[in-house]
Amino acid sequence: MVASVLVELSHVFIDKTFSYNVPDLLKDNIKIGMRVTVPFGSQTLEGFVLSLKKEKEDNLKDIISLVDSYPVLNKELLSLGRYIKDETLCTLIQAYQVMLPKALKAKKKTVVPLKYEKYIYLNKDININDYKLNNTQTDIINILLKEEKVLKSKLTSISSSSVKTLLNKNIILEEEKEVYRLNIKNDKTLNFSLSLKQDEIYKEIKKGFNTNTTYLLHGITGSGKTNIYIKLIEDVIKQGKTAIFLVPEISLTPQIIDKFTSFFDDVAVFHSGLSDGEKYDEYRKIREGKVNIVVGARSAIFTPFENIGIIIIDEEHSSTYKQENTPRYNAISVAKERAKYHNCPLVLGSATPSLESYARAEKGVYKLLTLSERYNKMNPPKVEIIDMNKEFKSSNGYISNTLLKEIEKVLESNNQVILFLNKRGYSSLVSCISCGFTYKCPNCDITLTYHKSSNMLRCHYCGYATKKDNTCPSCHEEFKEYGMGTEKLEEEIKEKVKNAKVLRMDIDTTTRKNAHDKIIKSFMNKEYNILLGTQMIAKGLDFPSVTLVGVINADISLNFPDYRSSENTFDLLNQVSGRSGRGTDPGKVLIQTFNKDHYAIKYNINNDYVGFYKEEMGIRRKLGYPPYYYICLIKVISKDYEKASDTSINISKYLRENIKNDIVLGPSCANIFKMNNEYRFQIIIKYKNIDNIRKYVSFLNEHYFNNKKVRLEIDFNPIKF
Ligand code: ADP
Ligand code: ZN
Repeated sequence: MVASVLVELSHVFIDKTFSYNVPDLLKDNIKIGMRVTVPFGSQTLEGFVLSLKKEKEDNLKDIISLVDSYPVLNKELLSLGRYIKDETLCTLIQAYQVMLPKALKAKKKTVVPLKYEKYIYLNKDININDYKLNNTQTDIINILLKEEKVLKSKLTSISSSSVKTLLNKNIILEEEKEVYRLNIKNDKTLNFSLSLKQDEIYKEIKKGFNTNTTYLLHGITGSGKTNIYIKLIEDVIKQGKTAIFLVPEISLTPQIIDKFTSFFDDVAVFHSGLSDGEKYDEYRKIREGKVNIVVGARSAIFTPFENIGIIIIDEEHSSTYKQENTPRYNAISVAKERAKYHNCPLVLGSATPSLESYARAEKGVYKLLTLSERYNKMNPPKVEIIDMNKEFKSSNGYISNTLLKEIEKVLESNNQVILFLNKRGYSSLVSCISCGFTYKCPNCDITLTYHKSSNMLRCHYCGYATKKDNTCPSCHEEFKEYGMGTEKLEEEIKEKVKNAKVLRMDIDTTTRKNAHDKIIKSFMNKEYNILLGTQMIAKGLDFPSVTLVGVINADISLNFPDYRSSENTFDLLNQVSGRSGRGTDPGKVLIQTFNKDHYAIKYNINNDYVGFYKEEMGIRRKLGYPPYYYICLIKVISKDYEKASDTSINISKYLRENIKNDIVLGPSCANIFKMNNEYRFQIIIKYKNIDNIRKYVSFLNEHYFNNKKVRLEIDFNPIKF
């Protein structure tokens, strides 16, 4: 028997498998999709078995061992890997590795152990009356007579010496049990029935059960999309099938997990906040058939369920569904592939669908479902714009007097406030008042952000950090700080608002495990009355007492050099506005901006997604951007400036010579031209049909694959530039 094995080294070979002889000892157990260890030159490597054949071949080395007792890649996942490779031009091994948790990747020396717990039980083969026991020992025996098996640690906490004695005398016995590290228990039970409008949508999607239909659920914030999802999943489970529910980044939305676990018993959870061991255990629950629902972030789309009845992707417009490094897959595309395979519906939900999705729904590729009122018919919050051109001078800081007054009013009425500022740190720029000196990252083409609490200047791209000098290192004059981040906003609020109890949520305050959860809970319990933060607080959160949302600077995302900046701005403002007025009291939103007439801001006043969509589509058509064209972004990266520049010129020449009907732009400098000491040029292809360009882009990909001096990053349908 011969096995072809795809080994773990991905950077040297493109998708080459190697043949190995399967020794007799392993013949009965080896299966396609299992991991094996094989000799490779002087090393031992792990790899996946991709095929097996009966015939013998001479001069083959033997497989050393099987790593698994079952295939970690089933038939569907094996072909899904090939799909991802074709879509993103990664290697096959990269595609398989990204689908698996660390514990199951083909990688020598990564062992994620199982967790065991010790249990004690009575030895049934003896008669206790034959033994003379002291009081403590009798207590322990009595516990064991009541509860059959007891955690050893519980008994040793009574008396470890007694437990030891009883064990030595064989009166009690111990056993080890495999346990799962994560056990989300929820005492609450959720009961609800759908509103009339919710019910209509639920029934419509139910019609699509057992068909491969994609729905776009456009439901305004607070319309109760989650409750519809839950009912749909409940029905899928009743049919004996499984469900995948994706959220943008689950560590930001503990509320979703809470809601799911208070309705369903058997939910597995996947997100970046879990340890490798926890992820492994969640994966085992799935494989062992202990759960039938997965709630998770992007990578949960690879959950190895056999019998999927529905896939739901909430906040479908979110950029987090696209992986930003190789393989640059999009979870929505993968979901479509899986929904096709399982012949099940795919539901994409959002208050602000991506332009691409809404355009597809208009064309009838997706079925459009609209929920245009909030649950319980509450009014959406009232959105007002504060013109900072007028208010900035008189405001003595970054919070206008209008916003300040409103904050005070809300706090007096014992309600809560959310303040949104999409910039962390203290100030965006520290500059010398005399010579204009600014701190720049030595590795990147970026000014450093000042973090006051640590008195450090940090690069938000490569992580470089340095202490801030007291005076300008070049002319010894004073520094002035420009721009504001969340840290400074916190300071200003505390200074200006008497009764403020402020809680800040951004990357810097959430590095510890479960930090998000704690922040959300304590705000929910009203230990604080103001929550301020970056886009982490924009999505999904549901605090009934929040009646005011203040946007400190709506212009930050507008100024990004990216064709999506208007869309991103509209989305963010709409999402964060949606946090206001979700309880019984009406909500208000105040947006501070220097661009009060910009359409990405204006359409928020009437919560008018479709108005925004139409205007933005007009611009995209004129400029030839998605969804009118697809985009392929090729970055040419090298430590050597000349090399990067020359290569990018050669590549654009090659593409222009070969690609006739589509548009090749560039080379130009990437948005961040120097990052991590590498120079970055970019070429953009705007195309209508992938088949006309794939051949040429693949050729470039392979041509530069093993180049030590220059590397390409190829990104189809990039989300970020
Ligand atoms: P969305 O995700 O669409 O922004 P949510 O799903 O968070 O909205 O729902 C908004 C609020 O309305 C939540 O507090 C939710 O619990 C409540 N809600 C929605 N539907 C129902 C229902 N059918 N019964 C009871 N409460 C509901
Ligand atoms: Zn840097």
